[in-house]
Amino acid sequence: MEYRLLPGLTTPDCTIDKVSLRTPLVCPDLGRPVPHLNIPLISAAMQAVSGTRMAIELAKLGGSAVLFCSQTVENEANMVRQVKSYRAGFVDPRTVGPDVTVSEVHGMREELGYTTFPVVDDDRRFLGLLTRNDYDLALHYKLPVRERMMPREKLEVGVEISDLAVAARQLGESHQGVLPIVDRNDRLMHLVFRKDIHDHLDNPNQVLDSKGRLMVLGGINTHDYRERVAALVEAEVDGVVIDSSDGFSMYEGEALSWIAANFPELPLIGGNVITAEGFRYLVEHGAQAVKVGMGGGSICITQEQKGTGRGLATTVLAVAEERDAYFAQTGRYIPVIADGGIETARDVTIALALGADYCMMGRYFARMDESPTEKVIINNRVMKPYWGEGSARARTWRENRYHQTKFVEGVEGFVEFAGKLRDNLEETLSKIKSSMSSCGVKDIRSLHSDAVLEVVSALSIREGQVHDIYLPGNEGLYGERSWGG
Ligand code: IMP
Repeated sequence: MEYRLLPGLTTPDCTIDKVSLRTPLVCPDLGRPVPHLNIPLISAAMQAVSGTRMAIELAKLGGSAVLFCSQTVENEANMVRQVKSYRAGFVDPRTVGPDVTVSEVHGMREELGYTTFPVVDDDRRFLGLLTRNDYDLALHYKLPVRERMMPREKLEVGVEISDLAVAARQLGESHQGVLPIVDRNDRLMHLVFRKDIHDHLDNPNQVLDSKGRLMVLGGINTHDYRERVAALVEAEVDGVVIDSSDGFSMYEGEALSWIAANFPELPLIGGNVITAEGFRYLVEHGAQAVKVGMGGGSICITQEQKGTGRGLATTVLAVAEERDAYFAQTGRYIPVIADGGIETARDVTIALALGADYCMMGRYFARMDESPTEKVIINNRVMKPYWGEGSARARTWRENRYHQTKFVEGVEGFVEFAGKLRDNLEETLSKIKSSMSSCGVKDIRSLHSDAVLEVVSALSIREGQVHDIYLPGNEGLYGERSWGG
């Protein structure tokens, strides 16, 4: 984005540790409590981005995933159920029977990447554990698992534990890396791993619903919304987001009105629009938050194909101004979500400073370990595939169901693998907070009102990057865009 922030006076009440990134998911003035995000980020409703692993991890870290709707209603509702049934730290493991051979389990281990397999009988009664230390493939490959497993009698086992802190205490006293949890009839319920207990106990930002479960959002379209919203609500989704590249349409107006009338309590996010008129239209039809952006996505060729679109900064400025005017008139504050082309902490901060309440990102999250794609090696670099929802690849799922345009609006490619979401987000969020602290603000609403932005020239963008210096070991990066957090 072509803006830079000017520092404001940093005072003791806006040091980095005091900056809050909490932001309402939808209009907080509806006369009932609404969900809030603890970090201003949601992941895009895309096949290559928002699966259940991403949804779980992102909610633990304070944001939320929007599950993609380019799949059957049933699949999407099942994904919601999976996130909702997740209990931090309690793993539902793949089990094996006692007569399976060691070599078969080894094959599963290679395929799934798991190293610990609980052994259960036909009634799911817990018999023992087979871990990587319990066999030597060359010696034991033909043996049934029962002969190599660590039997139940020799293991510390938790009975009907549902509190992670209790499991952590029992595991802490044992000599095991994993604690099997069984019910009163000795049937296996979960495993709790020592290695991830800290991750789970230490999520001060996690976003939970009123029943203490992780929050998750569902993407919906303007075709099958009646059926889809009903199924998602039944699965206890926390809100729905209309996934449309051009939301300023009567189809979206009808969908919003219908959902608002039938599910008045459901957080409802409309989009995408890029004008003040588009914003008004969606809000007047029931949108409680509005997503903005067209043509800026990293995989997006809409502008190229159709000539429609607008720079994200201009869009956010225009729509945020209308949001403020609407708030002044009605007392209802409608959050604005910036979507498309946001890649770095700097982009997020500038989008927020221009008036966005939070940001949706696709490419950023697609690069993470938790996105639903497999890593590949290309030219000695570890990559993950990433494709647009309007690309040929994403569209095939419903080719026979809906009338399709004859051209694609997205491309298919690869993005550089970035590692764990937790590590990347930590860096990204600390940059955002540091920037807000420099601006002299301690929350997003003050950033809206107090930020001073300046348009930058192409020359000053170059000045702001590393330049005219030899970087040993980094020759390949010199002069290129840095894709860091
Ligand atoms: P990114 O964060 O720059 O990768 O952009 C992600 C955003 O691009 C999504 O949230 C969508 O709004 C948009 N998008 C997703 N798929 C397509 C597509 O196929 N064509 C155009 N835009 C897309």
